Amino acid sequence: MIVAIDGPAGSGKSTTARAVAERLGYLYLNTGAMYRTVALAFLRAGAEVSAESAAVVLPTVELDVRYEGGTMHMLLGGEDVTHELARPEVGQGASDVGTLAVVRKKLVAEQQRLGRLYRHDPGVVLEGRDIGTVVFPDADLKIFMIADPEVRAQRRYDELTARGLGARFEDVLAEILERDRQDRERALSPLRKADDALELNTTHRSIDAQVQFVVDRVREREG
Ligand code: C5P
Repeated sequence: MIVAIDGPAGSGKSTTARAVAERLGYLYLNTGAMYRTVALAFLRAGAEVSAESAAVVLPTVELDVRYEGGTMHMLLGGEDVTHELARPEVGQGASDVGTLAVVRKKLVAEQQRLGRLYRHDPGVVLEGRDIGTVVFPDADLKIFMIADPEVRAQRRYDELTARGLGARFEDVLAEILERDRQDRERALSPLRKADDALELNTTHRSIDAQVQFVVDRVREREG
């Protein structure tokens, strides 16, 4: 089974996708972490985000996904960079590199490879912006998560504060709104709900209720 979960930043995708995968014993693939890792490589190289610089930087970017006790880790050239990916500038960088065709081509191919490998055993939950529309248009279940911007910004703010990464609420809200705009308006694989996706509004829903909603839909499809 392929479960596709898409939606804007802070809609609850990662928390829900991770918990659903754990409940079902499925593999969890956070595709945003892959875009963030490419963004980190650009930041470290001091490279601007353009098709020209991508032609130089991207071939040197060696990405790997590794699982430790069910937790997904991103490796960049063999180095575990997972802890660096939550930084807001890496999130904005991910949105920037995500506008480039060469980047999307490379990451989508890897996402499809992993998805196909584990689709039937044990099953996969993929989370991102274009999973139901581009990566797996034939996914067995598509969920599009949404929530009010203030609620999404509050979640991101709490997450950053808990990690000791200081931030101002207004900045977090502005960053989320800008990233959403860029993700929705970009020419390639923009953020949008697939026609056959179920919308899940998490503004007033607990995490447990979100997870249960998705698990119930999976069980229905399993027959
Ligand atoms: O989900 P997350 O906030 O980690 O994603 C970071 C950025 O990566 C998004 O704002 C989006 O621009 C990009 N992304 C994407 N396609 C995906 C996942 C993430 O373009 N499937």
